[in-house]
Amino acid sequence: MSNSPKRIVIVGASLAGARAAHSARAAGHDGPLTLIGAEPHLPYDRPPLSKEFLTGDQDADSLALDPDDAYDDLDVEVMLSTHAVGLDVEARTVAIAPAAGGGAETVPFDGLVIATGAAARPLPGTEGIRGVHTLRTLDDSAAIREGLRAGARVAVVGGGFIGSEVAASAKARGCEATVIEAAPAPLMRGLGAEMGMQAGALHHQNGVDLRLGVGVDGVLGAGQVEAVGLADGSRIEADLVVVGIGVAPNTAWLEGSGLQIDNGVVCDATLCCGPPGIYAVGDVARAPNGWLAPWYGSSPIRVEHWTAAVEHGMAVGRSLVAPDEAVPYLSVPFVWSDQYDARIQIAGHPDAGDHVELLVGSVEDDPESGRAFLAGYRRDGRLSAVMALNAIRPFVRFRRLLAGHPTWEEALELAATLG
Ligand code: FAD
Ligand code: NAP
Repeated sequence: MSNSPKRIVIVGASLAGARAAHSARAAGHDGPLTLIGAEPHLPYDRPPLSKEFLTGDQDADSLALDPDDAYDDLDVEVMLSTHAVGLDVEARTVAIAPAAGGGAETVPFDGLVIATGAAARPLPGTEGIRGVHTLRTLDDSAAIREGLRAGARVAVVGGGFIGSEVAASAKARGCEATVIEAAPAPLMRGLGAEMGMQAGALHHQNGVDLRLGVGVDGVLGAGQVEAVGLADGSRIEADLVVVGIGVAPNTAWLEGSGLQIDNGVVCDATLCCGPPGIYAVGDVARAPNGWLAPWYGSSPIRVEHWTAAVEHGMAVGRSLVAPDEAVPYLSVPFVWSDQYDARIQIAGHPDAGDHVELLVGSVEDDPESGRAFLAGYRRDGRLSAVMALNAIRPFVRFRRLLAGHPTWEEALELAATLG
């Protein structure tokens, strides 16, 4: 522990940052530890914001990642409603703009964790129109929940994870929902076209109006939103519009710091950003993942998954305390999505060019058991990813298999044992 830093500062008080704080303490850091967060809330979980919190099945208190007294117990100084506005790598200080106002202050550090995540991309031209929302924070979700009254007409722009889950939650609240997606299938980025269409079938089955292959021309309404105009000339009447068109990593505060910023903070395989003792984690980090090496070598990749944020935070907490023992990040990517009564799970890294084949179950609706299947993605003779819909047990087996980079034949063998 001789190289361990005296004072650790973590910027970004959410999933990855909170895990880094826990991990550094667990690894033996007994010096000062400061957690700086722009939001007014202690770290909370985001996945329910488009699911159980929107439907009303979970309340705000239950979203907390840790009990309120956890940070006192860990002796972590928490600075909420505080924006980091600059980083001086040479002087090893973070400039902050405190909530109370006044001039910028600096916070010195020996070890730094950059955990500022990502922000929702707004739809240009919608600024100032009431009833148009993006969804990233608890406050965003609370505002959307307010508008999800039975019978309300909800238009969702973007058929990615946010769009798909918000449409499902809106239906659960008795709203009418329309999803507008420019690509030929929802969830194309995560699943590819074939399985994206299978996910799209969920919307049809649940009475959502799915508009595919058409862009948005503009959001209409003087003051309050009235409708969404589409590029094909049609018009979707709407009381509420939720925009889910992807995110941008929160790196503006690092401009001029000398760190390499390119669609996130570029890191090495141990999540170190170059200068010793400075790491990036979670959605903001762009780092190699050893599991992806057969396809991407050591190219850095940015992922936006809950599990990666946890793993990054845990790893970096340990590396800060024992930098000489830092190990390269290696993990099978994993993400899930709950929509209607379906659980979608993805492990590995689906790519648009992969061959996709059904390995377990059927895409047809079974009158007794519903739809349940697992599809495999094949690249260069190997299994590169699996996607499961309501097939949790087979998914667990394939996720484990993926860790060893199985051949396609090995995937078929496992599928045969699962029926
Ligand atoms: P974030 O959670 O984005 O947190 C970053 C924090 O840094 C924020 O609190 C932000 O305010 C703060 N910050 C930013 N800039 C500054 C600054 N300059 N100074 C101080 N603080 C700053 N993933 C899944 O795998 N499964 C799911 O089902 C799933 N559902 C999701 C549902 C929703 C609605 C959303 C938004 C995301 C979902 N995700 C899901 C993704 C997952 O939540 C993210 O991958 C995860 O939150 C990333 O954690 P993070 O700590 O890296 O970043
Ligand atoms: P996303 O999953 O990247 O999907 C964005 C979607 O919007 C894509 O389908 C994209 O299509 C489309 N799009 C982009 N620009 C558009 C435009 N101008 N008009 C219409 N459609 C447009 O991002 P997201 O759904 O907004 O989610 C935001 C973040 O939250 C992501 O990090 C996501 O991982 C996370 N999240 C995750 C989950 C989960 O894992 N279950 C749930 C909710 C949120 P193209 O790909 O063709 O550009």
